[in-house]
Amino acid sequence: MKIIAVNAGSSSLKFQLLEMPVEKVIASGVVERIGINDSIFTIKYGDIRDKEIIDIPNHQVAVKMLLSKLIGLGIVNTLDEIEGVGHRVVHGGERFKDSVKIDDSVIQAIEEVSELAPLHNPANLTGIRAFMEALPNVVEVAVFDTAFHQTMDPVAFMYSVPYEWYTKYGVRKYGFHGTSHKYVSERAAQMIGKPVEDAKIIVCHIGNGVSLCAVDGGKSIDTSMGFTPLAGIPMGTRSGDIDPAIVQFISQKENKSLDEVINELNKKSGYLGLSELSSDSRDLWEAVERGDKKSILAVEKQAKIIADYIGAYFLALGGCDAICFTAGIGENASETRRIVCDKIKALGTDLDYNRNLTRGKEMVISTDESKIKLLLIPTNEEVVIARDTVRLGK
Ligand code: AMP
Repeated sequence: MKIIAVNAGSSSLKFQLLEMPVEKVIASGVVERIGINDSIFTIKYGDIRDKEIIDIPNHQVAVKMLLSKLIGLGIVNTLDEIEGVGHRVVHGGERFKDSVKIDDSVIQAIEEVSELAPLHNPANLTGIRAFMEALPNVVEVAVFDTAFHQTMDPVAFMYSVPYEWYTKYGVRKYGFHGTSHKYVSERAAQMIGKPVEDAKIIVCHIGNGVSLCAVDGGKSIDTSMGFTPLAGIPMGTRSGDIDPAIVQFISQKENKSLDEVINELNKKSGYLGLSELSSDSRDLWEAVERGDKKSILAVEKQAKIIADYIGAYFLALGGCDAICFTAGIGENASETRRIVCDKIKALGTDLDYNRNLTRGKEMVISTDESKIKLLLIPTNEEVVIARDTVRLGK
Protein backbone atom coordinates (compact mmCIF):
# COMPACT_ATOMS: atom_id res chain seq x y z
CA MET A 1 0.00 0.00 0.00
CA LYS A 2 1.43 3.38 -1.01
CA ILE A 3 0.76 6.54 0.98
CA ILE A 4 1.87 10.12 0.32
CA ALA A 5 2.78 12.22 3.38
CA VAL A 6 2.46 15.93 2.64
CA ASN A 7 3.62 19.11 4.33
CA ALA A 8 2.30 22.13 2.45
CA GLY A 9 3.63 25.61 3.22
CA SER A 10 2.53 28.88 1.67
CA SER A 11 5.01 28.58 -1.21
CA SER A 12 6.27 25.04 -0.78
CA LEU A 13 5.13 21.44 -0.74
CA LYS A 14 7.21 18.68 0.83
CA PHE A 15 6.26 15.10 0.14
CA GLN A 16 7.24 11.51 0.79
CA LEU A 17 5.85 8.45 -0.91
CA LEU A 18 5.95 5.53 1.53
CA GLU A 19 5.33 1.83 1.14
CA MET A 20 3.21 0.76 4.08
CA PRO A 21 3.07 -1.00 6.42
CA VAL A 22 6.81 -1.63 5.97
CA GLU A 23 7.40 2.14 6.26
CA LYS A 24 9.89 2.27 3.40
CA VAL A 25 10.43 5.63 1.70
CA ILE A 26 10.06 5.09 -2.05
CA ALA A 27 10.46 8.72 -3.10
CA SER A 28 10.69 12.10 -1.43
CA GLY A 29 11.05 15.67 -2.48
CA VAL A 30 10.01 19.25 -2.30
CA VAL A 31 8.48 21.88 -4.53
CA GLU A 32 9.79 25.33 -3.65
CA ARG A 33 8.89 28.86 -4.75
CA ILE A 34 5.32 27.91 -5.71
CA GLY A 35 3.60 31.01 -7.08
CA ILE A 36 6.96 32.78 -7.48
CA ASN A 37 8.89 32.55 -10.75
CA ASP A 38 11.55 29.86 -11.23
CA SER A 39 9.90 27.31 -8.95
CA ILE A 40 12.11 24.35 -8.09
CA PHE A 41 10.80 20.78 -8.19
CA THR A 42 13.13 18.20 -6.60
CA ILE A 43 12.40 14.50 -6.27
CA LYS A 44 14.68 11.76 -4.94
CA TYR A 45 14.12 8.05 -5.45
CA GLY A 46 16.67 5.29 -5.09
CA ASP A 47 19.99 6.89 -5.95
CA ILE A 48 18.44 9.29 -8.41
CA ARG A 49 17.82 12.98 -7.80
CA ASP A 50 15.69 14.80 -10.35
CA LYS A 51 15.57 18.60 -10.22
CA GLU A 52 13.60 20.87 -12.52
CA ILE A 53 13.28 24.65 -12.54
CA ILE A 54 9.96 25.70 -14.01
CA ASP A 55 7.18 28.17 -13.17
CA ILE A 56 4.61 26.48 -10.91
CA PRO A 57 1.81 29.00 -10.33
CA ASN A 58 -0.07 27.23 -7.53
CA HIS A 59 -0.36 24.09 -5.39
CA GLN A 60 -2.81 22.42 -7.83
CA VAL A 61 -0.17 22.54 -10.55
CA ALA A 62 2.50 21.35 -8.11
CA VAL A 63 0.41 18.31 -7.16
CA LYS A 64 -0.39 17.47 -10.81
CA MET A 65 3.30 17.73 -11.62
CA LEU A 66 4.20 15.46 -8.70
CA LEU A 67 1.69 12.81 -9.77
CA SER A 68 2.78 12.88 -13.40
CA LYS A 69 6.45 12.66 -12.30
CA LEU A 70 5.65 9.59 -10.18
CA ILE A 71 4.31 7.91 -13.32
CA GLY A 72 6.79 9.44 -15.78
CA LEU A 73 9.80 8.34 -13.73
CA GLY A 74 8.32 4.86 -13.31
CA ILE A 75 8.04 5.22 -9.52
CA VAL A 76 4.42 4.01 -9.74
CA ASN A 77 2.70 2.32 -12.68
CA THR A 78 -0.72 3.87 -12.12
CA LEU A 79 -2.09 6.40 -9.63
CA ASP A 80 -4.41 3.64 -8.33
CA GLU A 81 -1.42 2.35 -6.39
CA ILE A 82 -1.68 5.40 -4.12
CA GLU A 83 -4.22 4.53 -1.46
CA GLY A 84 -4.05 7.52 0.82
CA VAL A 85 -2.66 11.00 1.40
CA GLY A 86 -1.78 12.27 4.89
CA HIS A 87 -1.44 16.00 5.46
CA ARG A 88 0.42 17.81 8.18
CA VAL A 89 -1.84 20.50 9.64
CA VAL A 90 -0.27 22.86 12.14
CA HIS A 91 -3.26 23.81 14.29
CA GLY A 92 -6.20 21.66 15.31
CA GLY A 93 -7.32 23.88 18.19
CA GLU A 94 -9.17 22.01 20.94
CA ARG A 95 -11.37 20.17 18.48
CA PHE A 96 -8.82 17.66 17.16
CA LYS A 97 -7.30 15.34 19.73
CA ASP A 98 -6.22 12.82 17.10
CA SER A 99 -5.69 12.67 13.35
CA VAL A 100 -8.90 12.64 11.33
CA LYS A 101 -10.23 11.59 7.93
CA ILE A 102 -10.86 14.76 5.95
CA ASP A 103 -14.36 15.70 4.80
CA ASP A 104 -16.09 19.05 4.29
CA SER A 105 -16.81 19.51 7.99
CA VAL A 106 -13.14 18.89 8.84
CA ILE A 107 -12.04 21.43 6.24
CA GLN A 108 -14.43 23.94 7.75
CA ALA A 109 -13.11 23.25 11.24
CA ILE A 110 -9.50 23.71 10.06
CA GLU A 111 -10.57 27.00 8.51
CA GLU A 112 -12.15 28.05 11.78
CA VAL A 113 -8.95 27.55 13.76
CA SER A 114 -6.89 29.35 11.09
CA GLU A 115 -7.14 32.46 13.23
CA LEU A 116 -4.77 30.69 15.65
CA ALA A 117 -2.24 29.81 12.91
CA PRO A 118 -2.78 32.37 10.15
CA LEU A 119 0.46 31.59 8.34
CA HIS A 120 0.18 27.81 8.45
CA ASN A 121 -3.37 26.46 8.38
CA PRO A 122 -4.44 28.22 5.15
CA ALA A 123 -1.29 26.89 3.46
CA ASN A 124 -1.98 23.37 4.76
CA LEU A 125 -5.54 23.64 3.39
CA THR A 126 -4.24 24.63 -0.02
CA GLY A 127 -2.32 21.34 -0.11
CA ILE A 128 -5.38 19.37 1.06
CA ARG A 129 -7.63 20.90 -1.59
CA ALA A 130 -5.09 20.30 -4.36
CA PHE A 131 -4.76 16.60 -3.50
CA MET A 132 -8.53 16.13 -3.05
CA GLU A 133 -9.01 17.51 -6.54
CA ALA A 134 -6.23 15.43 -8.12
CA LEU A 135 -6.96 12.16 -6.28
CA PRO A 136 -10.70 12.31 -5.47
CA ASN A 137 -11.03 8.61 -4.63
CA VAL A 138 -8.33 8.13 -1.99
CA VAL A 139 -8.58 8.67 1.75
CA GLU A 140 -7.17 12.03 2.86
CA VAL A 141 -6.15 12.39 6.50
CA ALA A 142 -5.17 15.45 8.55
CA VAL A 143 -2.45 15.00 11.18
CA PHE A 144 -2.22 17.92 13.60
CA ASP A 145 0.90 19.32 15.31
CA THR A 146 -1.26 20.19 18.31
CA ALA A 147 -3.23 16.92 18.73
CA PHE A 148 -0.65 15.02 20.79
CA HIS A 149 -0.72 17.77 23.45
CA GLN A 150 -4.49 17.68 23.92
CA THR A 151 -3.92 15.31 26.84
CA MET A 152 -2.49 18.18 28.93
CA ASP A 153 -4.30 19.03 32.14
CA PRO A 154 -5.77 22.56 32.55
CA VAL A 155 -3.13 23.25 35.21
CA ALA A 156 -0.54 22.79 32.46
CA PHE A 157 -2.36 24.45 29.56
CA MET A 158 -4.12 27.43 31.18
CA TYR A 159 -2.38 30.80 31.52
CA SER A 160 -2.95 32.84 34.68
CA VAL A 161 -4.84 35.56 32.85
CA PRO A 162 -8.50 36.59 32.91
CA TYR A 163 -10.39 33.32 32.48
CA GLU A 164 -12.64 34.75 29.80
CA TRP A 165 -9.67 35.15 27.44
CA TYR A 166 -9.85 31.36 27.27
CA THR A 167 -13.63 30.99 26.97
CA LYS A 168 -14.04 33.85 24.51
CA TYR A 169 -10.92 33.48 22.38
CA GLY A 170 -9.29 30.12 23.12
CA VAL A 171 -6.21 31.68 24.75
CA ARG A 172 -4.34 28.69 26.25
CA LYS A 173 -1.22 26.64 25.66
CA TYR A 174 -1.65 24.36 22.63
CA GLY A 175 1.91 23.18 21.98
CA PHE A 176 3.37 22.13 18.62
CA HIS A 177 5.73 19.52 17.10
CA GLY A 178 3.28 16.93 18.51
CA THR A 179 3.88 14.42 15.72
CA SER A 180 7.62 14.51 16.39
CA HIS A 181 7.21 14.23 20.17
CA LYS A 182 4.90 11.25 19.70
CA TYR A 183 7.25 9.45 17.31
CA VAL A 184 10.37 10.06 19.40
CA SER A 185 8.78 9.15 22.74
CA GLU A 186 7.48 5.86 21.31
CA ARG A 187 10.90 5.01 19.84
CA ALA A 188 12.55 5.94 23.14
CA ALA A 189 10.34 3.50 25.04
CA GLN A 190 11.31 0.78 22.57
CA MET A 191 15.00 1.65 22.89
CA ILE A 192 14.95 1.39 26.68
CA GLY A 193 12.80 -1.75 26.54
CA LYS A 194 9.81 -0.40 28.48
CA PRO A 195 6.15 -0.41 27.41
CA VAL A 196 5.37 3.19 26.46
CA GLU A 197 2.48 3.10 29.00
CA ASP A 198 5.05 2.80 31.81
CA ALA A 199 7.72 5.13 30.46
CA LYS A 200 8.52 8.68 31.55
CA ILE A 201 10.27 10.50 28.72
CA ILE A 202 11.46 14.04 28.03
CA VAL A 203 11.79 14.86 24.32
CA CYS A 204 13.96 17.80 23.24
CA HIS A 205 13.04 18.73 19.66
CA ILE A 206 15.83 21.17 18.75
CA GLY A 207 15.72 22.44 15.19
CA ASN A 208 15.04 25.87 13.81
CA GLY A 209 11.97 25.67 16.02
CA VAL A 210 12.55 24.23 19.48
CA SER A 211 10.15 22.57 21.87
CA LEU A 212 10.40 20.21 24.80
CA CYS A 213 7.72 17.76 25.85
CA ALA A 214 7.15 15.74 29.02
CA VAL A 215 5.59 12.42 28.03
CA ASP A 216 4.09 10.27 30.78
CA GLY A 217 2.86 6.82 29.72
CA GLY A 218 2.70 7.89 26.08
CA LYS A 219 0.76 11.07 26.82
CA SER A 220 1.96 14.66 26.65
CA ILE A 221 1.57 16.25 30.09
CA ASP A 222 3.40 19.50 29.31
CA THR A 223 5.27 21.19 26.49
CA SER A 224 7.28 24.37 26.11
CA MET A 225 5.61 26.05 23.13
CA GLY A 226 2.39 27.83 23.98
CA PHE A 227 -0.51 29.67 22.41
CA THR A 228 1.86 30.10 19.45
CA PRO A 229 5.23 28.57 18.50
CA LEU A 230 6.96 31.70 19.83
CA ALA A 231 6.94 30.51 23.44
CA GLY A 232 9.40 28.44 25.46
CA ILE A 233 13.01 27.95 24.44
CA PRO A 234 15.09 30.48 22.41
CA MET A 235 15.22 29.21 18.80
CA GLY A 236 16.90 30.07 15.49
CA THR A 237 15.10 33.40 15.19
CA ARG A 238 12.41 33.23 17.92
CA SER A 239 12.91 34.58 21.43
CA GLY A 240 11.09 31.94 23.47
CA ASP A 241 9.67 33.16 26.80
CA ILE A 242 10.20 36.80 27.68
CA ASP A 243 8.50 39.25 30.02
CA PRO A 244 5.49 40.44 27.95
CA ALA A 245 5.94 44.00 29.26
CA ILE A 246 9.04 44.25 27.01
CA VAL A 247 6.72 44.29 23.99
CA GLN A 248 5.03 47.50 25.07
CA PHE A 249 8.31 49.05 26.25
CA ILE A 250 10.11 48.48 22.92
CA SER A 251 7.05 49.52 20.96
CA GLN A 252 7.19 52.92 22.69
CA LYS A 253 10.97 53.35 22.63
CA GLU A 254 11.35 52.42 18.96
CA ASN A 255 8.03 53.82 17.81
CA LYS A 256 7.00 50.46 16.41
CA SER A 257 3.59 48.81 16.27
CA LEU A 258 2.87 45.72 18.38
CA ASP A 259 2.89 43.71 15.15
CA GLU A 260 6.39 44.95 14.33
CA VAL A 261 7.71 44.09 17.79
CA ILE A 262 6.16 40.60 17.70
CA ASN A 263 7.66 40.17 14.25
CA GLU A 264 11.10 40.94 15.70
CA LEU A 265 10.52 38.39 18.44
CA ASN A 266 9.65 35.84 15.74
CA LYS A 267 12.22 36.69 13.07
CA LYS A 268 15.09 38.64 14.63
CA SER A 269 15.59 37.06 18.04
CA GLY A 270 16.91 33.74 19.35
CA TYR A 271 20.30 32.68 17.93
CA LEU A 272 20.16 35.46 15.34
CA GLY A 273 19.25 38.17 17.83
CA LEU A 274 21.91 37.41 20.43
CA SER A 275 24.74 36.42 18.08
CA GLU A 276 24.07 39.22 15.56
CA LEU A 277 25.51 36.67 13.15
CA SER A 278 23.21 33.84 12.09
CA SER A 279 20.15 31.76 12.91
CA ASP A 280 21.96 28.60 11.81
CA SER A 281 23.56 26.46 14.48
CA ARG A 282 26.45 25.46 12.21
CA ASP A 283 27.49 29.11 11.74
CA LEU A 284 27.22 29.68 15.48
CA TRP A 285 29.37 26.72 16.45
CA GLU A 286 32.01 27.80 13.94
CA ALA A 287 31.99 31.25 15.55
CA VAL A 288 32.15 29.69 19.03
CA GLU A 289 35.34 27.91 17.92
CA ARG A 290 36.81 31.33 17.07
CA GLY A 291 35.81 32.56 20.55
CA ASP A 292 33.01 34.85 19.34
CA LYS A 293 31.43 36.07 22.61
CA LYS A 294 27.93 36.78 21.33
CA SER A 295 27.70 33.38 19.66
CA ILE A 296 28.81 31.74 22.90
CA LEU A 297 26.09 33.70 24.69
CA ALA A 298 23.46 32.60 22.12
CA VAL A 299 24.17 28.88 22.39
CA GLU A 300 24.67 28.98 26.18
CA LYS A 301 21.43 30.90 26.70
CA GLN A 302 19.47 28.34 24.70
CA ALA A 303 21.11 25.44 26.53
CA LYS A 304 20.35 27.02 29.90
CA ILE A 305 16.65 27.37 29.12
CA ILE A 306 16.53 23.81 27.73
CA ALA A 307 18.12 22.59 30.97
CA ASP A 308 15.65 24.65 33.04
CA TYR A 309 12.72 23.01 31.23
CA ILE A 310 14.25 19.55 31.60
CA GLY A 311 14.48 20.14 35.36
CA ALA A 312 10.86 21.30 35.49
CA TYR A 313 9.66 18.30 33.48
CA PHE A 314 11.69 15.89 35.60
CA LEU A 315 9.64 17.14 38.57
CA ALA A 316 6.35 17.17 36.64
CA LEU A 317 6.91 13.55 35.60
CA GLY A 318 8.06 12.50 39.08
CA GLY A 319 11.34 11.16 37.68
CA CYS A 320 12.37 10.24 34.19
CA ASP A 321 13.61 7.16 32.28
CA ALA A 322 15.06 8.88 29.22
CA ILE A 323 15.86 12.29 27.77
CA CYS A 324 15.86 12.35 23.96
CA PHE A 325 17.41 14.72 21.43
CA THR A 326 15.92 15.13 17.97
CA ALA A 327 15.51 17.48 14.93
CA GLY A 328 18.26 19.28 12.96
CA ILE A 329 20.31 20.43 15.94
CA GLY A 330 19.35 17.68 18.39
CA GLU A 331 20.32 15.02 15.86
CA ASN A 332 23.47 16.61 14.50
CA ALA A 333 25.01 19.17 16.82
CA SER A 334 26.91 17.12 19.40
CA GLU A 335 28.15 20.42 20.86
CA THR A 336 24.62 21.51 21.77
CA ARG A 337 23.82 18.13 23.31
CA ARG A 338 27.04 18.34 25.32
CA ILE A 339 26.43 21.78 26.81
CA VAL A 340 22.83 20.86 27.67
CA CYS A 341 23.86 17.57 29.28
CA ASP A 342 26.61 19.30 31.25
CA LYS A 343 23.89 21.40 32.90
CA ILE A 344 21.58 18.56 33.95
CA LYS A 345 24.04 16.17 35.63
CA ALA A 346 22.40 16.72 39.03
CA LEU A 347 19.40 14.70 37.77
CA GLY A 348 21.61 11.62 37.46
CA THR A 349 22.47 11.80 33.77
CA ASP A 350 25.94 10.86 32.56
CA LEU A 351 26.78 11.72 28.96
CA ASP A 352 29.30 9.47 27.19
CA TYR A 353 31.35 12.09 25.31
CA ASN A 354 32.47 9.57 22.71
CA ARG A 355 29.03 8.17 21.95
CA ASN A 356 27.79 11.76 21.81
CA LEU A 357 29.89 12.37 18.68
CA THR A 358 27.32 10.32 16.71
CA ARG A 359 25.30 12.25 14.15
CA GLY A 360 21.89 11.56 12.67
CA LYS A 361 21.27 8.00 13.78
CA GLU A 362 19.65 6.30 16.75
CA MET A 363 22.08 5.93 19.61
CA VAL A 364 22.23 5.70 23.39
CA ILE A 365 24.62 8.55 24.16
CA SER A 366 24.77 8.14 27.95
CA THR A 367 27.23 5.88 29.76
CA ASP A 368 26.08 2.44 30.89
CA GLU A 369 26.01 3.79 34.46
CA SER A 370 23.75 6.79 33.71
CA LYS A 371 20.59 6.65 35.86
CA ILE A 372 18.61 8.39 33.12
CA LYS A 373 19.26 7.26 29.55
CA LEU A 374 20.25 9.97 27.07
CA LEU A 375 19.07 9.11 23.56
CA LEU A 376 19.69 10.47 20.08
CA ILE A 377 16.61 9.68 17.95
CA PRO A 378 16.14 11.12 14.44
CA THR A 379 12.54 12.25 14.20
CA ASN A 380 10.21 10.94 11.51
CA GLU A 381 7.00 12.92 11.23
CA GLU A 382 6.22 11.49 7.79
CA VAL A 383 6.04 7.96 9.14
CA VAL A 384 3.50 9.02 11.79
CA ILE A 385 1.46 10.76 9.07
CA ALA A 386 1.55 7.61 6.91
CA ARG A 387 0.67 5.34 9.86
CA ASP A 388 -2.32 7.48 10.79
CA THR A 389 -3.46 7.58 7.16
CA VAL A 390 -3.39 3.78 7.03
CA ARG A 391 -5.15 3.49 10.42
CA LEU A 392 -7.94 5.90 9.53
CA GLY A 393 -8.28 4.65 5.96
CA LYS A 394 -9.28 1.19 7.15
P1 AMP B 1 15.39 21.68 11.45
O1 AMP B 1 14.50 22.85 11.71
O2 AMP B 1 15.00 20.47 12.27
O3 AMP B 1 15.56 21.36 10.00
O4 AMP B 1 16.85 22.09 11.99
C1 AMP B 1 17.58 23.14 11.42
C2 AMP B 1 18.81 23.42 12.27
O5 AMP B 1 19.59 22.21 12.33
C3 AMP B 1 19.72 24.51 11.74
O6 AMP B 1 20.08 25.38 12.80
C4 AMP B 1 20.94 23.76 11.26
O7 AMP B 1 22.10 24.51 11.42
C5 AMP B 1 20.96 22.57 12.20
N1 AMP B 1 21.78 21.50 11.64
C6 AMP B 1 21.50 20.72 10.58
N2 AMP B 1 22.56 19.88 10.31
C7 AMP B 1 23.51 20.17 11.23
C8 AMP B 1 24.83 19.68 11.49
N3 AMP B 1 25.36 18.72 10.74
N4 AMP B 1 25.51 20.20 12.54
C9 AMP B 1 24.96 21.18 13.30
N5 AMP B 1 23.73 21.68 13.10
C10 AMP B 1 23.02 21.19 12.09
